[in-house]
Amino acid sequence: MSEQWIFLNGSYVNKEEAVISVYDHGFLYGDGVFEGIRSYGGNIFRLNEHLVRLYESAKSIMIDIPYTQEEMTQILVETLRKNNLKDGYIRLVVSRGVGDLGLDPANCRKPSVIVIAEPLRIFPQELYDSGIEIATVATRRNRSDVLNPMIKSLNYLNNILVKIEANLAGVQEALMLNDQGYVAEGSADNIFLVKGDKLLTPPGHVGALVGVTRNTIIEIAGEKGYEVEEAMFTRHDVYTADEVFLTGTAAEVIAVVKVDGRVIGEGKPGPVTNDLLSSFREITLTDGVKVYSESLHVS
Ligand code: PMP
Repeated sequence: MSEQWIFLNGSYVNKEEAVISVYDHGFLYGDGVFEGIRSYGGNIFRLNEHLVRLYESAKSIMIDIPYTQEEMTQILVETLRKNNLKDGYIRLVVSRGVGDLGLDPANCRKPSVIVIAEPLRIFPQELYDSGIEIATVATRRNRSDVLNPMIKSLNYLNNILVKIEANLAGVQEALMLNDQGYVAEGSADNIFLVKGDKLLTPPGHVGALVGVTRNTIIEIAGEKGYEVEEAMFTRHDVYTADEVFLTGTAAEVIAVVKVDGRVIGEGKPGPVTNDLLSSFREITLTDGVKVYSESLHVS
């Protein structure tokens, strides 16, 4: 990319000038919220769902985002346009803003708003063809009554510790349990099991972020006649599932073929996973806010 434009607190600036204060509480304390969003062929996929999650997360931690959702839509569209991106990954960050060294948010007068759009770093096709291996890690998911997973906050240390463990174990992704030992999610993906014609995924209160991709898959699966249940389950259920897959904005739908050394199903991506992935890819091209649409009055 020749020149990269980043939206920073009301202006579009060059990547080199896109810097924030060391007193920003997003940096000092992980005090803020964010979204990872994807544009497919000029459609920002399920933007409304992402914005609702962002604004609800911000409300929950008492950050007042200084733009309406419509204004934020325009900012995202404009950031993609300025960077000539049709297929891109968008990172939208809203922090508490600049304060002092104390953690008291009362000293932060204005939230910082940052939008970064980059070309996609797509996962290698071979991972989709062969599926991935995951392993249960020792680090448990934050208890949902301590830090509710519905809040997509900048505080990702829990997930980072989990990712470090997965790296050390030499596997592509982690399986994270909650404090009671029920399966929660991956480091940045939701998990689904397939048992016969039934799909299972943990409910949010177990300790899973309610992912936009997860919800899309629940919808698609329902339309295709699969029975989907939000249910608590254990590692034993994962080991004995017919198929296991993960979902997320970056990974889309990716098969898991080995968990803690146990081969899942036939040891390759199963028919239900493949079926849902192909339906998911079909709708990503049509189900979104158009970046280059005239109706958005983008200059
Ligand atoms: N869980 C966690 C912890 C995540 O960070 C993400 C990525 N945002 C997901 C699940 C998947 O959510 P989505 O489908 O909205 O990207």
